[in-house]
Parts: sequence; C-alpha cells; structure tokens
Amino acid sequence: MLDHPWNLVFLAGFAVYVGIRHVFERRVAHVETVVRRIDGTERALLVVVGIGSLVLPLLYVFTPLLAFADVERPGALPWCGAGLMILALWLFWRSHADLGPNWSVSLEVRRDHTLVDRGVYRRVRHPMYASIWLFAIAQGLLLSNWLAGWAAVATFAPLYLVRVPREEAMMIERFGDAYRAYMRRTGRLWPRRPRPAAPD
Ligand code: SAH
Repeated sequence: MLDHPWNLVFLAGFAVYVGIRHVFERRVAHVETVVRRIDGTERALLVVVGIGSLVLPLLYVFTPLLAFADVERPGALPWCGAGLMILALWLFWRSHADLGPNWSVSLEVRRDHTLVDRGVYRRVRHPMYASIWLFAIAQGLLLSNWLAGWAAVATFAPLYLVRVPREEAMMIERFGDAYRAYMRRTGRLWPRRPRPAAPD
C-alpha cells in the first residue's frame, strides 16, 4: 500500500501534525498548571481517537488486514483531501502559536492563564478543534478505504461533543463575563456573522 502516492501524502501530513504538537509540547513543558480536568471518560475517548486517527490508517497502509473496506473513488477527491490537509495543518499550527503558553493537550488552566481572543481566536473559539475536524475529513478523502479513511471523523466526534461544553464551562469559571462576552462574538468552529449594531 506504500506505493499508493496518496497514502504517502497522508503519512507526510501526519508527520507534520505530530511535529507541530511536539514543538509546542516542548515550549509549554515548563508552564505551571493550576487546574487539570481529565477524567476516565476523556482518557477513554482519547484512546478511541488514537485508534481512528493512527492505528487504523497504519493498519491500512502497512498491512492487508483492512483490504475488505477498500473503495474506488473519483480522482478529484484525494486532491481535495490534500488541499484540506494543508489548510488543517496551517490552522493547527496557528492555533498553537496564538494560544502560546495557555495551550495544553487536555483541559487545563495555567498559573498565568490569559484569555486569547486574537489571531485565529478572534472570530472562532475552537480553531484547533476545527483544524482536527479538517484533518479528519482530509484523511477520509485521501485514503481509498472507507474504514481507515473515515475512522478519524467517527472517533473525534464523541471527544469533541464531550470536551467542548466542559472546556467552555472551565473557561467561564476562570474568566467569567469576559469569556461569556467572547462566546457572544465568536462561533464554535465557524466565524459568527457580525451582528448589526443596536440602534441608538
Ligand atoms: N478549544 C481550543 C483550544 C484547545 S487546547 C481550540 O480548539 O482552539 C485546550 C486548552 O486551551 C484548554 O485547556 C484551555 O485551557 C485552553 N483554551 C481554550 N480556549 C482558550 C482561549 N480562548 N484562551 C486561552 N486559553 C484557551
């Protein structure tokens, strides 16, 4: 399966994704955490995401085990997947860079945590999760196997649905009205349309 060029594009994209994470993990390694909210549900959902976004694609690329789920698709789809992957990686990198020392893999509040509402956070509250959605869709478009391809979308969905309300509750606890106001002017994954100014 390694002779399939789109599989190589996927693997290259995945390597860049892991590289970005690694760079920012090192940058925040010394930053002190004052609140950590990770429980059994989150841990289990993270393992499930690992299966969908890593184990199944690797089984598909390096073994014949998932051949039963191979599909033929129009040639344009993987090109769209490659474009989406570039966009996903750019947004993934920008959201880490904009969060700076406030970033963490799980739900955490740092000692000097500040509310970021600039850069890619100006109009959208969850650009990093948006980038993971884009990456998961790109995986589906790049891999010619419905199981390995769409497993990332299927496994990220429950983590996203559980995590976002918890994260927003944690941010409200930490930042109160400032985060509530930020929620009103932003969308979760998609920029909120600016509201017309109220008449005087
Ligand atoms: N949900 C965001 C961030 C994911 S990283 C996104 O998708 O882009 C998760 C951590 O980021 C959380 O532990 C939280 O402490 C922090 N965080 C989320 N939004 C933030 C914001 N606007 N400003 C500062 N920190 C934020």
